[in-house]
Amino acid sequence: MASVPQTMKGVIIEKTGGTEVLQHKTDLPVPQPKDGEVLVKNDFVGVNFIDTYFRSGLYPAPSFPYVLGREAEGTIVKTGGAGDLYGLKEGDKVVWMNTGAYGEYTAVPAEKVVKVPDSLPPKVGAASLLQGLTALTLIREAHHVQKGDWVLVHAAAGGTGQWLCKLLKSVGANTIATASTPEKLELATKAGASHVINYSHEDVKAKVLELTGGKGVIAVFDGVGKSTFDLSLSCLARKGSMLSFGNASGAVEPFAISRLSAKNVRLMRPTLFNFIAERHEFESYTKELFDMIIKDNLEPSIHEVYPLSEVGRAQNDLEGRKTTGKLLLDPTK
Ligand code: NDP
Repeated sequence: MASVPQTMKGVIIEKTGGTEVLQHKTDLPVPQPKDGEVLVKNDFVGVNFIDTYFRSGLYPAPSFPYVLGREAEGTIVKTGGAGDLYGLKEGDKVVWMNTGAYGEYTAVPAEKVVKVPDSLPPKVGAASLLQGLTALTLIREAHHVQKGDWVLVHAAAGGTGQWLCKLLKSVGANTIATASTPEKLELATKAGASHVINYSHEDVKAKVLELTGGKGVIAVFDGVGKSTFDLSLSCLARKGSMLSFGNASGAVEPFAISRLSAKNVRLMRPTLFNFIAERHEFESYTKELFDMIIKDNLEPSIHEVYPLSEVGRAQNDLEGRKTTGKLLLDPTK
C-alpha cells in the first residue's frame, strides 16, 4: 500500500456564488479517518446537480470552508480505529456517498461505503452510484412502476434521466422522454425511452395524451422543477404520481394542494438520501444496481472526465445544459 501524503489537491468554497467561488488548492491537509471511518483515495469523483445548489447557496452549506461533492470511487488506504467497518479493509475498491468528495482523499463513515464488484470496470461505479440509485429508488419507492405503465421522464438525456430510461426499460415500462435538442432525444431513445418529445418547442401535453389514448401517464419523474412543474401535473392520469425530485431550472414555487384533487394526484418531493439512510437500504439497493448493470450490460454514459482543477468548467457545462450523461472529475489533475 502506497504511503499516504500529508497534503492533497482539493476544491473548497469559502462563500456561496457562481463558479468563481470554487478554489482549487494543492496543499489541503489529507483528512485522518476517525473511529468508524475509512480514508478513501478517490480515483473518480462524480459531479451532481446538488453540488451546484450547495455552491450557489440554494441549499445551505453547514460551515465554511466547505468541500463540495457527494460521491466517488476509489481505494481504501487507511481505516479508523474502533467502530463497525462493515468488513471493509485497506486495499478494497469501493464507491461511497457522503460529503467532501472534491479532493484526492476523503474520510468517510464506513456505513456510507460499499465494495465494488471485481467485474465492474473503472469509472462505472462513480458514474452510476448516485444517479443510478436515484433512478432505482424513484421507480421502486416513489412510484413502484409496473410492466406496461406509461410514464414521463424530463431531461431524459441527463445523468439521472438516462438512468431512469435504462431502468424503466428493464422493468418493461413505456417511457415518454423529454429533452431540449434532437441529439439529446436520440440519447434518450438509446437509453430506453419508447417515445420522445422536444420540450423546447413541441406541445408535450398534447403528445402525451395522444400516446396514452387521452388518459395521461401514471407517473412523472420531474428533476427540472420550476419550469416543468405545471406541465407535469397536466400530463398525469387520474390517480397518478407527481415525483418532483429536483430543481435544475429553479425551485418549484409554493402551490395550493387543492390542485391535486382534480385527478386525485399523489405528490412527492423525494431525495435519494432518505431512501437509503439505513445501511441495509444502501447496501441492498447498491447491490441491486450493480447486479442490473452487470446482468443487463447497462453502460453508464460518461460526458467527460474533467481535471479537478477545471471543476468550474464542469459545473458551468452542467448548469448551461451542455452535457449529457455523467460528469466525472479526476482529482489528481
Ligand atoms: P442532468 O445531467 O440531468 O442535467 C440537468 C438537465 O436538466 C440539463 O441537461 C437540461 O436538459 C435540464 N434542464 C432543464 N431546464 C434547465 C435549466 N434551466 N438549467 C439547467 N438545466 C436544465 O443533472 P443531474 O442528473 O445531476 O440532475 C438532474 C436533476 O435531478 C436535478 O434537478 C437534480 O437536483 C436532481 N436529482 C435529485 C436527486 C434526489 O435525490 N432528489 C438525486 C439526483 C439528482 P435539457 O437540455 O434536455 O432540458
